[in-house]
Amino acid sequence: MSAATMRAAVLTAPGECSVQEVPAPVASAGEVVVDVERVGVCGTDVEFFTGEMAYLHEGHARFPMRLGHEWAGIVRAVGDGVDPAWRGRRVMGDTMLGCGRCRRCERGHQHVCADRQEVGIRGGRPGALAEQLAVPVTSLHELPGNVDPALGALVEPGGNALRAARAAALTPGDRVLILGPGTIGLLTAMFARATGAEVHLMGHTAASLAFARSLGFTAWTERELPDVAFDAVIDATNAAYLPARALDLVEPGGRVVCIGLAGSPSHIDTRTLALKDVTAVGVLSASPGLAATIAAYATGQVDPRPLVAATVGLDRVGAVLAGAPIAGAGPGPKVHIDPRSH
Ligand SMILES: [Zn+2]
Ligand SMILES: [Zn+2]
Repeated sequence: MSAATMRAAVLTAPGECSVQEVPAPVASAGEVVVDVERVGVCGTDVEFFTGEMAYLHEGHARFPMRLGHEWAGIVRAVGDGVDPAWRGRRVMGDTMLGCGRCRRCERGHQHVCADRQEVGIRGGRPGALAEQLAVPVTSLHELPGNVDPALGALVEPGGNALRAARAAALTPGDRVLILGPGTIGLLTAMFARATGAEVHLMGHTAASLAFARSLGFTAWTERELPDVAFDAVIDATNAAYLPARALDLVEPGGRVVCIGLAGSPSHIDTRTLALKDVTAVGVLSASPGLAATIAAYATGQVDPRPLVAATVGLDRVGAVLAGAPIAGAGPGPKVHIDPRSH
């Protein structure tokens, strides 16, 4: 008897991604196997493809790797100790899998557990760019009927964005500036708008600014930025100099939120932080924001679907990671993969 196999995108070395037949996952105790319906490709995946991702250099990840952490799918099989009622439910899952036993995990901070795995990212846990995915049942969030696979695969980046918007502590009438009109910047802008704030974005390509404007946001280049008071500034870029610029731009008494990561250290002058009485917040991961993101999508308070430029099959993952243009793609920054389509 031969074991079941499935198709999965495998990253064997920087720049080398191919679809391979691999053993299909089996649901072990406490875990489920999901039929993957939709997967988002994001900047983290691209960093693994280029080999720049810090985890590769710190020993938290190594090739060959199976990427994919922004996903939605249907529970196909359940392992020992898992309620069979999960079978057939549409779900998404937390990327962060804490050990569940340490002080941080016990205090609800499993997303910064020192021994955590991250689905498709860290600790050898295979990701969702495949026909099937195995994850712990404790990481699952059930999706309501009106949250389709495309929305479901946008919950993970949305959770990051929701947390960034919340960290800015916006109240109606506040003015917020978001640096970087990529997926996270635009999603953060959507969650910020839902609080009643006046939302501005800063970017540098004409196409990204035009797309931000098409979503109803005010968008500027750095040079055009008006001299107005920003109650909060959120950095969603990978530019090392922008956290310091955010601190310069924010109103005294305001907030600076850092969700972007640069390839080299970003320095800020803490005298400015103190003298302006600014609160600075760092955000890693969607974990504490997933349930609220699903609720915002289900009610239509936030609709991120315009961000998806195209949905393509698994064989296109390598090309997508390499940044190849996709025929017929829309202007949004996000590409989705449907592992069932060829
Ligand atoms: Zn991501
Ligand atoms: Zn832990």
